[in-house]
Amino acid sequence: MARALGPALGNGIRRRCPACGRGALFAGYLRPVAACAACGEALGHIRADDFPPYIAILVAGHVVVPLILFAEQAWAPALWLQLLVWPLLALALIALLLPVAKGGVLAALWALGLTGGERQEEPGGTDAGRRP
Ligand SMILES: [Zn+2]
Repeated sequence: MARALGPALGNGIRRRCPACGRGALFAGYLRPVAACAACGEALGHIRADDFPPYIAILVAGHVVVPLILFAEQAWAPALWLQLLVWPLLALALIALLLPVAKGGVLAALWALGLTGGERQEEPGGTDAGRRP
């Protein structure tokens, strides 16, 4: 079944169901719902693994590092201040970006059909201990 990637991505980064855009994608901060409350689409089995943190760290780094360099050139703030501000800013940015990145990755995987469904059909598979 062909699914449009663009609308699914738009729904995913808004943390909405990639299929309908109405139901919530997460039950909490990062845990995907088992199924969409609005349309019933199964979402809990899709595994994003490490890609969302990679995206969040990559984007946050490209925001924070230029700010550090600019601040050093413009004001040369005290080292203790920089050691306080930059890690907190980086962590806050990553915390904000992580659900957006995970929503986008889950939506892209859903739209492309890369949901790991082929593993679930294996009888006696080795995925029994893996989280949903
Ligand atoms: Zn839905």
